[in-house]
Amino acid sequence: MSIIIKSEREIAAMRQAGRIVAIILGILSKQVRPGMKTKKLDIIAGRELERLGAKPSFKGYRGFPANLCVSVNDEIVHGIPGERVLNEGDIVSLDFGAIFNGFQSDAAVTIGVGEISPQARQLLETTKAALKAGIAAAYPGARLGDISAAIQNCAESRGYSVVREYTGHGIGREMHEEPQIPNFGQPGNGPVLTKGMTLALEPMVNIGDWHTQLSNHWMVFTADGSLSAHFEHTIAITDAEPEVLTIV
Ligand code: MG
Repeated sequence: MSIIIKSEREIAAMRQAGRIVAIILGILSKQVRPGMKTKKLDIIAGRELERLGAKPSFKGYRGFPANLCVSVNDEIVHGIPGERVLNEGDIVSLDFGAIFNGFQSDAAVTIGVGEISPQARQLLETTKAALKAGIAAAYPGARLGDISAAIQNCAESRGYSVVREYTGHGIGREMHEEPQIPNFGQPGNGPVLTKGMTLALEPMVNIGDWHTQLSNHWMVFTADGSLSAHFEHTIAITDAEPEVLTIV
């Protein structure tokens, strides 16, 4: 498989999907509060998808049972919303994708439940900054490794680690297309970025070590039990500045 270059029309469809993703993540973020069961977020996401005329990217993907992934504290990605109750001081990652007119967009945010510790807040700020650094490296003529290195340097320079076994990805008609986009790497390596590439950048940053463990087939958590955060945007490479597609 190779990297699929999108036309203007295809990127326009992804922009619509991305806008829906951003709207729904905004609604969900405002709903998060102590005492809430994570399945409530899935119910809201399903209702809003229907209202906006879009389909979930995740539900049914390799059998995933929910509209979105909800990963709490040391859970990194792919948490299944359910009976778990959110507590004051938790951090919760919401990862969500939508399909509109046959095209997909994918984004994630991590938010605090009520008041969170300064350590947790710094982790969130760093992960967000790592995503921003990755986006800032996504210029035509640069290489994929420049994005990976920018993300890694941002996180590691502040004393955090980046998850290695899970990566960002190309996206379009399919949620996962070529290329894989590791959150670590060497500048100057990998494919040259060209106009029309559409990429989901998604740093997963841990306070402790980068090693992960898998539970229940889906959910991935930090091997050392440290907190983990996750931010993601879908972007398009243009002939100048990258366009973030998952915004309102
Ligand atoms: Mg993704």
